[in-house]
Amino acid sequence: NNAGKSEGVPEWRRAVASKDQPLGKRTSMSMKEQKESLPVFAFKDQLIKAIKGNQILIVVGETGSGKTTQLTQYLDEAGFSNDGMIGCTQPRRVAAMSVAKRVAEEVGCELGREVGYTIRFEDKTSPSTRIKYMTDGMLEREILIDPDVRRYSVIMLDEAHERTISTDVLFALLKKTLKRRPDLKIIVTSATLDADKFSEYFNQCPIFTIPGRTFPVEILYSREPESDYLDAALVTIMQIHLTEPSGDILLFLTGQEEIDTSCEILYERMKALGPNVPELIICPIYSSLPTEVQSRVFDPAPPGARKVVIATNIAETSITIDGIYYVVDPGFVKQNSYDPKLGMDSLIVVPISQAQANQRAGRAGRTGPGKCFRLYTEAAYNSELLPTTPPEIQRQNLSHVILMLKAMGINDLLHFDFMDPPPTNTMLEALETLYALSALDDEGLLTRLGRKMADFPMEPAMAKVLIYSVDIGCSDEIMTIVAMMNMPTIFYRPKEKQTLADQKKAKFHDPHGDHLTFLNVYNGWKQSGYSSPWCFENFIQFRSMKRSKDVRDQLLKIFQRYRHPIISCGRDTQKVRQALCSGFFRNAARKDPQEGYKTLVEGTPVYLHPSSALFGKQAEWVIYSTLVLTVKEYMHCTTSIEPKWLVDAAPTFFKVAPTDKLSKRKKAERIQPLYNKFATEDDWRLSAQRRGGR
Ligand code: ADP
Ligand code: MG
Repeated sequence: NNAGKSEGVPEWRRAVASKDQPLGKRTSMSMKEQKESLPVFAFKDQLIKAIKGNQILIVVGETGSGKTTQLTQYLDEAGFSNDGMIGCTQPRRVAAMSVAKRVAEEVGCELGREVGYTIRFEDKTSPSTRIKYMTDGMLEREILIDPDVRRYSVIMLDEAHERTISTDVLFALLKKTLKRRPDLKIIVTSATLDADKFSEYFNQCPIFTIPGRTFPVEILYSREPESDYLDAALVTIMQIHLTEPSGDILLFLTGQEEIDTSCEILYERMKALGPNVPELIICPIYSSLPTEVQSRVFDPAPPGARKVVIATNIAETSITIDGIYYVVDPGFVKQNSYDPKLGMDSLIVVPISQAQANQRAGRAGRTGPGKCFRLYTEAAYNSELLPTTPPEIQRQNLSHVILMLKAMGINDLLHFDFMDPPPTNTMLEALETLYALSALDDEGLLTRLGRKMADFPMEPAMAKVLIYSVDIGCSDEIMTIVAMMNMPTIFYRPKEKQTLADQKKAKFHDPHGDHLTFLNVYNGWKQSGYSSPWCFENFIQFRSMKRSKDVRDQLLKIFQRYRHPIISCGRDTQKVRQALCSGFFRNAARKDPQEGYKTLVEGTPVYLHPSSALFGKQAEWVIYSTLVLTVKEYMHCTTSIEPKWLVDAAPTFFKVAPTDKLSKRKKAERIQPLYNKFATEDDWRLSAQRRGGR
């Protein structure tokens, strides 16, 4: 039992987690004193007055001034929640959860009662909820169901400076809603000074500025460019810890893997120094970390010890950790961006912008004068970093958003009131994707299938697979697989026991690939009675399995709500592979006679990952879920297919090449992508005009 609990938890984390400290408790100030010490407190009455007097208000204030946690409570106290909920959107899941938890503590209620949150696949609210935090994507979905958002009296669009696609879309949607609901209040908050632009967009609405209370931060640059920023970061942390006066450290890294690795290395290096150096408490924070561990970052270090928080970009503005005096900034961030050539999104590590660098540095000056160690040169800061980050809508795949907008009855996307319209090409790409998925018809109008797809809170390809699985008779299996595909990791592979772990994993391998392997794992776990020792025994991450089950339950609810039957294909798992083709046909690849595979759409060389169930097998045609670029472009989650399924799945996208003299086998080989349904901008405009004229 005990073994099951610590499974998958590296030594450094167990060490951190075993610290016997009360959760979320402050030693120095009471909750009330703490709330009243926040900069926003002095402006409580003025803020409420400004909100009462204006339908839209922009609130600008430094990170940590209390916007997210306090404003909602002020509104609640002022009686706004009597006419509807107070909603507050967050670009990030972790922020929505962590802030809701904090506010529930401040209000003194159980999380999910008066104060709750909703994120994808998780709803922690109840009929008594008055303050609700949610991801911006979830509010978007609510608008799909109720464009007037009648359940809310106030909506706070928080962290607007992040300019996520969903926030940008919400701007435009709510701007329309305001006309129909004169009683609705919108508050747009931003940590940076781009408020004029917001104000202009929202009909010159007033801006309320909460004066900051910050201390100077000394900026130190690397003298030479760093070849290994991870190592440089860890060396810097050790130096700060051993030579600088007390104060906690915040290091920005790009993602979970990097953070876990550095925590491990740092833990080992500290251990090697022996017991005579002061203790360094290592706190990681990223979104897939369990909530208990996440909230540890807020616990103050015990006297004599120092805390180092190793965070993703979430600590840049979304959450504020008190007591940070030192910031270590390698200058990178992981960004979701759309690669039009591959026709897909990928997470890539890119340099941050100057604005982000300054925001990061500012984290060191909240409690007293601080220091920021930039692991890049001053010249690089001046010449290589962009002044600001372009909004997400300018660089990401829009097919999901466009499907939503179409489902809301918004067809004229060219004239949709975006604050910064996305490039026309990106829109065309998205329309093309949706057309290939049969979510749009020849004229770019939403099909019945497309409308059904919009009911699922996921990328259109995935939604299509779910719906198609009903038609073909394997929705039971596909639901499980889709739930598992949502997990970052399923298998546990510790360094010391890689061979054993691989052997255990191989037992689940399905000859047809990784998706069916997921199904085998889930079914095995289910047969064990969803047991944790079973996971431990089989080197499977129990937490991921539990979460997959939650996600599956949520999917089940959506199926039931829309009356999609749940059908099992039993042993006939070919249906599962066919269903996968219905959404992921774009990600098809064919074995290259030389080495690896080539994608069908662009002919890009891609490779089977050594961990794939298909590795070493001779699968000729495959589809994959994502591409991951490490040393090579690896296909992640790969399944073998028959090429003719592609033509069945996407008749507008693939065609069988002319066949007169070819044998049946050859015919299959000459399947090629069809291009450019919406060939040029002019064509598209034309079809838009035609639609307008109907
Ligand atoms: P803003 O939105 O203006 O950036 P917040 O309302 O997020 O400010 O933060 C106000 C204060 O609340 C900060 O001092 C922060 O440290 C504290 N705080 C926020 N979340 C938590 C938490 N989960 N535990 C402890 N303190 C928290
Ligand atoms: Mg905030």
